[in-house]
Amino acid sequence: MKILMVFLLLLSSTAAISGDWKGKKAAVVLTYDDALGVHLDNAMQTLDKYRFKGTFYVTVSSEPFKARISDWRAMAKAGHELGNHTMFHPCDGSQPGRDWVSKATDLSTWSVQRMVDNIAMTNVLLTAVDGKSKRTFAYTCGDKSAGGESFVGQVMQSFPGARGVQGGYEKIETMDLSDIRSFMVMGDSAEKLIGRVDEAIKQGALVVFLFHGVGGEHGLDVSKEAHDALIAYLDKKKSDLWVAPMIDVVDYVKVRRKLAKP
Ligand SMILES: [Zn+2]
Repeated sequence: MKILMVFLLLLSSTAAISGDWKGKKAAVVLTYDDALGVHLDNAMQTLDKYRFKGTFYVTVSSEPFKARISDWRAMAKAGHELGNHTMFHPCDGSQPGRDWVSKATDLSTWSVQRMVDNIAMTNVLLTAVDGKSKRTFAYTCGDKSAGGESFVGQVMQSFPGARGVQGGYEKIETMDLSDIRSFMVMGDSAEKLIGRVDEAIKQGALVVFLFHGVGGEHGLDVSKEAHDALIAYLDKKKSDLWVAPMIDVVDYVKVRRKLAKP
């Protein structure tokens, strides 16, 4: 299977890379942050209905994670990715509008080492749940420094890719695997979400959706109806789309880049 994949990649390596996402025009990654109960109860049901796999960026101190570990394990077993979103979800409290950040989880007062240790222990816990040794990372609040010092280099030593929070479409040739762009969903309509998919097809690009609440449980929310309409649209357009967990897309981008090198 693997040999066949490499052969097929070699065959197509002379063609332009972007616009070829495993033979499809565009790629879609569905990401869900903070390990909420609605991810298990709302989002996953719809993904399963259409047999799509998503990436769930888990904060392991979240109550719905701690209380329902067997459900998260079953989700991983079904092919969804459990991504690393730290243990305690620290964010830089010195940024504007971050009054809600607690003193204990204020990244501006953390050392890089403390953050790196926090991330490493989260990996240990996630491996205990899903048995996987490889996964992607998502920056909490999109923050990339602790105590004013960047920890991006350390993140990229432990992960093949990391998702950021800057909106935008990505191309195989140019995407920054240490800060993969994503569209944060905040009360978006089904039309808006579907429009992003159409734009990705037009550009031959990757589009990453960043969900928190799906039908509640978080201030950054999308209605279950809008979410489900998006997923149904992905199914309708599946001849044009590769829908996959972030880890698979990152692996694919790396293979394509290697093959494209003269
Ligand atoms: Zn988060």
